[in-house]
Amino acid sequence: MSLRTKFMLALLLTGLAAVAMVGGLAYVGMTKKVDTIRREQAAEHFHSVVTAYLQKYGSWQASPGKQGFDEFMQSGEHPPQLSDGAQDEERRPPREEGRGPQDDGRGPPRGEDGHPPPRGEGAGDRSPPPRGEGDGEGRRPPRRGGEPPFRFILADQDFKVLLGAGVYQHGEALPEAARKDARAVSVNGNVVAYVSPEGVITPSKQELQYLAAMREALWYGVSGAAVLALVLGFLLSRSLGRTLGHLTKAVRAMHGGSLLQRVPVEGKDEVAELAAAFNDMSEKLARSHEELHESHQTILAQAEQMRELSVRDALTKLHNRRHFDEQATTLFSHAVRHKRPLAVVIGDIDYFKKINDQFSHATGDAVLRQVGEILRSHMRLSDLVARYGGEEFVIAFPETELPQAAALCDKLRGIIESFPWHQVHPDLKVTMSMGVYADLAAGTAEAMLQKADALLYRAKETGRNRVCFAA
Ligand code: GH3
Ligand code: MG
Ligand code: MG
Repeated sequence: MSLRTKFMLALLLTGLAAVAMVGGLAYVGMTKKVDTIRREQAAEHFHSVVTAYLQKYGSWQASPGKQGFDEFMQSGEHPPQLSDGAQDEERRPPREEGRGPQDDGRGPPRGEDGHPPPRGEGAGDRSPPPRGEGDGEGRRPPRRGGEPPFRFILADQDFKVLLGAGVYQHGEALPEAARKDARAVSVNGNVVAYVSPEGVITPSKQELQYLAAMREALWYGVSGAAVLALVLGFLLSRSLGRTLGHLTKAVRAMHGGSLLQRVPVEGKDEVAELAAAFNDMSEKLARSHEELHESHQTILAQAEQMRELSVRDALTKLHNRRHFDEQATTLFSHAVRHKRPLAVVIGDIDYFKKINDQFSHATGDAVLRQVGEILRSHMRLSDLVARYGGEEFVIAFPETELPQAAALCDKLRGIIESFPWHQVHPDLKVTMSMGVYADLAAGTAEAMLQKADALLYRAKETGRNRVCFAA
């Protein structure tokens, strides 16, 4: 379920629940209140009529009884009718036997004087005679809907039923439960009777109209709240959904590598704060990443520099002995595996000590640098040349047979010899002796180098400034 749907649903449910609760409680409360008011008014009126009747005759026993009460009810001698909703009900004339006021519907005829008895009176008045009094009628049947009609029961001071409203028989003792609600009727300060309500009151037509109007208003309220909730939910979730959509897109872009993202910041709510915070975070992250990248590049460059320094000779800038040994081993393995030729050379400057001694150590350094440059500039990319230590240089020629290696070395020897050393020092002469070995059968690169060193020794022995070689 999308966030928008959830949002709208939550607002809808909240709105409906609020309206239903407030409206429902108001409706129930009003219904109860109407019922209570009508009961109180009816009770008050019936009580006053009974009081007036008993005041006239002194007691029920001294009065003409039920028939007399009926006439008294219609005579207009009793107190004036109460007003408002109860009055409609109270003004109904006595009902026929077996029919309660709620049973007979609306608009029954008024009494002769146009002043009908209250409903309760009617009930008491028109209730059938109790059993044993001649009519044989039992208790009144319940109204439509299963509820008994609303009546008043009249009992004497000893709670013996005088008018049973079709519920109790004349002379029957009023049950304890009914006595609770009974109201005393006093004449000259003495309790002469009790009036007790019985059954369920029915709202008047006007009240029913009020309640119907309220129900209608409640439905309008519910519908209005639903529409409002849906519209609000749509509008609110639209902005939220839009910002979240931007954020999701931006996060995906960041995941794809574009760290600098900006999402629109709309309004000033928490979602806007989130968007603004996201923009800040993205900017800082991108900046940090850039700085990190730069420092990473610096570290890489420095590491490369360090690595170069570790494999280079500081004076001649040629590779050093350690690098040569590593690489020569690799070249040897490769040559053996692929049965390819490999030649190794070791060269040593002749009488270098004398150069140092005769012209200075600095001149010796200059000679070392220049010899290194001559060697480097005549190498192929695949060749390996290094200063092995002191005034000794080593070379590895991959893919090179002994004759070509020897010839190349002799060429190098000649270049060194013919270099214009007088530019360095007028009396300076420099030559180099070299030993070349190219037989992989030696077993290792190191062993080949030893063989080359032995050939170098022979070159020194046989007069220097020469190349000795062997396969
Ligand atoms: P040979 O012809 O037999 O090779 O004799 P040589 O004098 O060249 O050999 P020797 O081993 O006697 O002398 C090598 C000298 O090289 C000794 C040392 O002081 C010098 N040397 C070693 N490293 C350097 C350096 O980096 N700079 C300078 N200027 N001299 C160095
Ligand atoms: Mg030497
Ligand atoms: Mg030497």
